[in-house]
Amino acid sequence: MEDLELKSGNFFKGQKEFRKEYRENVNGWYNGFIHLGMIFSIGGIGIYYFSSHIEKIIWWEWLIVPITLIFANLFEWWIHKYVMHKPLNFPGAKAIYSRHTLQHHQFFTEHEMRFAGTHDWRVTLFPPYALAIFIAVLSAPAVIFLNLVISSNVGWLFIITTTSFYLLYEIMHFCCHVDDNIFVRNMPFINTIRRHHAAHHNKGIMMAQNMNLTFPFGDWLFGTSDLNRGLFGHFFNGYNKKYVKKNINANKD
Ligand SMILES: [Zn+2]
Ligand SMILES: [Zn+2]
Repeated sequence: MEDLELKSGNFFKGQKEFRKEYRENVNGWYNGFIHLGMIFSIGGIGIYYFSSHIEKIIWWEWLIVPITLIFANLFEWWIHKYVMHKPLNFPGAKAIYSRHTLQHHQFFTEHEMRFAGTHDWRVTLFPPYALAIFIAVLSAPAVIFLNLVISSNVGWLFIITTTSFYLLYEIMHFCCHVDDNIFVRNMPFINTIRRHHAAHHNKGIMMAQNMNLTFPFGDWLFGTSDLNRGLFGHFFNGYNKKYVKKNINANKD
């Protein structure tokens, strides 16, 4: 199992052992590409199916897309802060907390954020059934509601947006845990979220700061960002550490 680890890593005491033990508990047949493929197949088939119902869009129906993006971003902030980092008492909540706070955050720290290989993707990607639940339980009821109250196109555009946003979350979080390269370093939004999320992996601030995984809108809005910048600066901050709040640094190890 040792050969699956990074050759040189900036590990904290016990992190290497945690990673080794985690890998030993993953089923032998696990394959990162199949995991990723299943998530994008479910999402892709869903988006294709939802799109096939859209006909003759009126211009104002498109407005549901930016509105949904804002709510999806705030939902991402909320679920990360209040479910993934808190052991709540409703079905599935403890498993989500355990997978994120007790596993994902032990596996990666701000000093060592990298996968050692495709076998480590399991600790970052959500299980495929989570997307099915997200579509069927969290998005579909709103489609029925929007269809009744506004129009069927608005309902279908809503679920296309939420499903796409979920896939975007997976891509952006994944990009936070790959090795630095010319693409992730220079791609706007990806470089911003890499710094933002690496800072979140510091145990000193992980329960309260930098909860967004796509765009740091919720963190900017609710004051839970480690940066002291405006919204535009937050979005295009990249790897810049100049605006990191001074008192945040003091809390760090
Ligand atoms: Zn992470
Ligand atoms: Zn977290």
